[in-house]
Amino acid sequence: MTKRNSIENFKDEVTGWRRELHMNPGIKHEEKFAHDFIKAHLYDLGVTYKDGYGGYGIVATIEGNTNTSGKAVGLRADMDALPLTEESGQPWASKTDGVMHACGHDGHTASLLGVAKYLSETRNFDGKVHLIFQPAEEGGHGADMMIADGLFTDFPMDGVYGLHNWPFEKSGTAAIRPGPIMASVDEFTITITGRGGHAAMPHLCIDPIVIASQFMVQAQTIISRTTDPVQAAVLSFTDLHAGEGAHNVIPETCSIMGTIRTFDFDVRKNIQTKLEELLKSICAVNEATCEIEIIPHIDPTINDAVEAEFCADVMASLIGEENMERNVDPCMGGEDFGSMLRETKGAYIWIGQGTGDKNSPHDQGLHSPKYDFNDDNLPLIIDYLAELVEVKLKK
Ligand SMILES: [Zn+2]
Ligand SMILES: [Zn+2]
Repeated sequence: MTKRNSIENFKDEVTGWRRELHMNPGIKHEEKFAHDFIKAHLYDLGVTYKDGYGGYGIVATIEGNTNTSGKAVGLRADMDALPLTEESGQPWASKTDGVMHACGHDGHTASLLGVAKYLSETRNFDGKVHLIFQPAEEGGHGADMMIADGLFTDFPMDGVYGLHNWPFEKSGTAAIRPGPIMASVDEFTITITGRGGHAAMPHLCIDPIVIASQFMVQAQTIISRTTDPVQAAVLSFTDLHAGEGAHNVIPETCSIMGTIRTFDFDVRKNIQTKLEELLKSICAVNEATCEIEIIPHIDPTINDAVEAEFCADVMASLIGEENMERNVDPCMGGEDFGSMLRETKGAYIWIGQGTGDKNSPHDQGLHSPKYDFNDDNLPLIIDYLAELVEVKLKK
């Protein structure tokens, strides 16, 4: 049961919104349906908005009954889907082959529209609320694009808050932690060029496969020997390619791909630098040449300690302290809300949505083709965001 009865009363309406969004998914940078849908509903609710932030991103603003505080709070929901063929078996499954909401961003968007409905009707707060509908979270740099388009300069905020549904924990529970909660994500691509030739005459060749092998084994010491052991970091090679299927040819080139994950900006920089230095030195010793491109993809998501405690207090007031995990282990996955927390203090929370039935679509892992957002969670999420606003901007 929600603290606010009116939210329960429009649960069916918000559920309808969520399912319509689910049926009409758009991958990163192609969220036109969600964009038009959000604008139409904001218009119906009489909520003003500005679009053109990060492509299909929208920022809606609701003013409280009073604004003596001069404060503003940002609430963020992502809106993009994934390139995946849906197998959830739900009646409201994606109408587009090969595209589905497998991360529940349809639920996040519908929840934020529900918040727009509740807050625009009640306005029981002192200040302003900016509802941030963010596109291209799934590796599309949507948060950075919104920021580059003026998100925080056009709409100054005293705090920004994000959330994600969490099928790995039961509905009615939530988890947060102060400090880093999700990792940075960097992607790298390497090409080593040697000299190809006959496999029986290696002394006339420069073998890029042996060089790549030396590099990949040695690179693991960047984590084990140059990274503070109390810091978490991952360096994984995910693709290795050389040759064209022959047993008697040393190929000319070898390519490597991989990812770096950390929770700390300095650790991340050290790994990036050492990876490049190591590659260049091993190639130099072996008289090979190399190219490396490291793409800094996602910043770590780092919760402000005070804001994380505030969010935990707000959530605990709704679900009970026994259901609120305040110091959960962080996750090595990435979340581009980290960019917003780099600019403005705030916090990001996981809201459990599992049913306890491992065959339920709501209990499948994020990005599974069998996954579906749990609509029973919509009232709690709306209640949480409304409570957050009304406590933060207390009259
Ligand atoms: Zn995702
Ligand atoms: Zn997601």
